[in-house]
Amino acid sequence: MAVERERSVLEGIARAKKKLGKDLLLLAHFYQHDDIVRYADFVGDSLQLAQKAAASEAARFIVFCSVSFMAETARILCRPDQEVLHPEPDAHCPLADMASIGEVERAWEALASLGKKIVPVVYVNSYADLKAFCARHGGMVCTSANVKKIFSRVLGQGASLFFFPDENMGRNVAGSLSLSGEETFLWNPERGLGKGGPGADKARVFLWEGFCIVHRLMGGPDVARLRKEHEGITVIVHPECTPEVYSQADLSGSTNFIKATVDGSPQGSKWAVGTEWNFVNRIGRENPGKLVIPLREERCREMAKVTPEKLLGVLEGLVRGELPGRVQVDEQVSHDARTALARMLEIS
Ligand code: SF4
Repeated sequence: MAVERERSVLEGIARAKKKLGKDLLLLAHFYQHDDIVRYADFVGDSLQLAQKAAASEAARFIVFCSVSFMAETARILCRPDQEVLHPEPDAHCPLADMASIGEVERAWEALASLGKKIVPVVYVNSYADLKAFCARHGGMVCTSANVKKIFSRVLGQGASLFFFPDENMGRNVAGSLSLSGEETFLWNPERGLGKGGPGADKARVFLWEGFCIVHRLMGGPDVARLRKEHEGITVIVHPECTPEVYSQADLSGSTNFIKATVDGSPQGSKWAVGTEWNFVNRIGRENPGKLVIPLREERCREMAKVTPEKLLGVLEGLVRGELPGRVQVDEQVSHDARTALARMLEIS
């Protein structure tokens, strides 16, 4: 019975897609389940998907299968006459939830008392109001693909950098740019800056205490175990992993980088991949003749909230002339956030 129900949902998606034709662009993040990915017109990382949405000429409806901030980013970049729809508006990235605009504004006020030139840089895994905040204060957005370049650019101009909300990514990039521990400062709202320190006056990178709940579960012992079990395996990880894992890995980069690297590797090569399981599992299937295994089998529960049933609900609603799961962003916030994204694209 369950199998029959599943089949009828999948058939319904295919039917609705056909009816909507060119009016529809269906996008799915790499971490989505296979039953979503198989119907996507394009699969990619958050930036690729937002760019794809922005570049789509024909589509009137963009259905974005991912967590909410990504659909919001697409809304910011799309034309006003296009509609962005999200099958599960309640699928929120826990990392993005770790920094609110009020908290960031309070931190910014405290940092201003140091009298340094500080540029705010927000990871794309964040809500539109934080992206807009960065634009208003001379900063920009970054993604896992360009974070190192953006850190280098800001630091190269002699400014310090306030990075939120992913502490691990900030530490990993700071380390790869040879910044010492003393040159990073972890902002904590309760501790504040102390009396000018400890270390805040010397810091070049101010970090926010946030993390990805999926990547944080991967540890150094996982790297050691897989190296022992599979001689000659290459460990490739996402920069949201902890510094412990990042420093032990052979390679690191965005999901797109990971996919391109594994796809381009010779037959017989062996890979331990430190990121979400759905993605690792899929690139393993796409690369027969290579060993591709997860560093740890961890799934993102928020990405998993987007189910085929919910996708079908949106598509059938569109066929009926409704706009279920319509994504909206305040006009001024959208305008400012677009500026922060455009500054990033200029540097990338
Ligand atoms: S994998 Fe991590 S960063 Fe990505 S959506 Fe899930 S919790 Fe957020």
